[in-house]
Amino acid sequence: MNVSDSERVATLLENRGYEMTLDEESADVILINTCSVREKAEQKLFTRIGEIRHSRKDKPLIGALGCVAQLEGETLFKKIDGLDFVIGTRAVGRVHNAIEKYRQTEVPVLDLGEREFDYDWSVDQAHRRSPWIAFLPIIEGCNKFCTYCIVPFSRGREKSFEGSTLVRQVLELRRQGVKEIHLLGQNVNSYRPPTLSGLESFAGKSPFAKLLRAVAATGIERIKFATSFPRDFNSDIVDAINENENLCDWVHLPVQSGSDKVLAAMKRGHTVSNYQRRVDAIRNSPRGISLTTDIIVGFPGETDADFQKTIELFDYCDFDNAYIFKYSPRPGTPAAAMSDDVSPETKTERFNALEELRKKYVTKRQEALIGKRLSVLVEKASTRTIGGLSGHSTCNRLVNFVGDASLIGSVVDVIVTQSKVNSLYGELG
Ligand code: SAH
Ligand code: SF4
Repeated sequence: MNVSDSERVATLLENRGYEMTLDEESADVILINTCSVREKAEQKLFTRIGEIRHSRKDKPLIGALGCVAQLEGETLFKKIDGLDFVIGTRAVGRVHNAIEKYRQTEVPVLDLGEREFDYDWSVDQAHRRSPWIAFLPIIEGCNKFCTYCIVPFSRGREKSFEGSTLVRQVLELRRQGVKEIHLLGQNVNSYRPPTLSGLESFAGKSPFAKLLRAVAATGIERIKFATSFPRDFNSDIVDAINENENLCDWVHLPVQSGSDKVLAAMKRGHTVSNYQRRVDAIRNSPRGISLTTDIIVGFPGETDADFQKTIELFDYCDFDNAYIFKYSPRPGTPAAAMSDDVSPETKTERFNALEELRKKYVTKRQEALIGKRLSVLVEKASTRTIGGLSGHSTCNRLVNFVGDASLIGSVVDVIVTQSKVNSLYGELG
C-alpha cells in the first residue's frame, strides 16, 4: 500500500511541475513515507531525518507521510527537529498544498484531513516500480479491528473505489503495456463500491468476485490480488479463478493462529474449522492454487498448546509460503492493554520453529514443481546467475533462468529444473 501511495504522490507532484529525484543530496523537498504495521517506524523516521540534517548544510524541506504521520500528527513536530510538514494517510492527494503553504508561511503544516472527493489516483508509467507491473488500490482502510492491529487507526474506515473507474484504469494500464495488475487492499474481499456501476453484468455473489471477473474481462495478461480475509473469502472467488486464466493461481489468506482461543482474543471473526473450509475450496481447485499466509507468534495468552495447534494447522494447510511475525504491541490497539505475557525468548523459539516448518514446506512445494512449466513475467536481469533473468510466476514464485535481456517485459514459459532456498531455477521452454 505504501509503495502504491509513493508512486501516486510522485505522479501528483510531477503533474504540478515538480521534478522527481532520488538524490537526497540535491533534493529541495524530501518526503518520507512511513509504515507502522510491522516496524519501529517512528524511530526510523527520527533517524532518517537526523541523517539528512547531518549530511545537508542547506536545509531541504522535509515532510512525513503515511501511518506514523497519521497516528502521531502534531506531536511529530515536537519530537523531530527539522520536520516541516506532516501529511496523514488520507491527505496524500494534497502534498503539493502543504509544500506550497510551508514555502509561503514557513510555519509547520499539518494535514490529517479526509480525502477530497475528486482525489486523483492515477500513476504515471515513469513512477511505477516496474513498467510491467501496476498496483491498483481497490479498497482503502479496514473495518475489522483485529485486536493487535494498527491499520484501522492509521488508515481509517473502508472505502472502495467504483468498479467502472477501476476497469477504466486497468484498460489504460494495459494500453500502456502493463502485463500484471495487483489489486490491493487490507481486505480486498470486503470490497463494497458505492454503486455496482461497471460490474452489473458480471457473475459473483460478492462485489469482489464481480470485480475480479470484470478486471479479467479487460484482457490484461495477469491479475493478482492481496490481502484476503478468511471470514469474507467466499468460494465464488475460487470459482472466478477457475473460470479465468488471467486471474493468477495464488491466494494470500492470513490465518494468524491455529488456536481458536487465540483467534477469538485477536477478534479475527473466524475459527480454525472456518479457515480449513476455505483452504479446502482453494486446494480443490483444478488449477492448483498456491496458498500463502501470515502468522503471529506470541500473542498475549498464547500457550505451548496453542502454538502446537498453529503447527498442526500449518501441516493441514500445506502452505506454499508464510510470513511469520513475533507479536509486538501497537500503542492504542486493544491488545496493547493485554499483558504481553509471552517472553521474548519463547517468541523467538516459536518463531524459529515455525520458520523451520515454513522452509520445509517451501522446499516440498517447490520441489514438486521440478519438471513443470511455469508462466513467468520477465522483470529484470537476475542477480543470481550470469546472463540470467528473473521474474515471478503466476503462482508468485521467484524464478531465475538464462535468456536474452530483450525478453524483459514479456511473459515466457520456463521449465523448472531446480529448487533453491527462496527461488526456483529453470530453462526457457
Ligand atoms: N490486512 C492484512 C494484513 C495486515 S498487516 C490482514 O488482515 O491480514 C500484515 C501482517 O502483519 C498481518 O497479517 C499480521 O500477521 C502482522 N501484524 C499486524 N500487526 C501486528 C502486530 N502488532 N504484531 C505482530 N505482527 C503484526
Ligand atoms: Fe489489521 Fe485485521 Fe484489518 Fe488486516 S483485517 S488490516 S489484520 S485489522
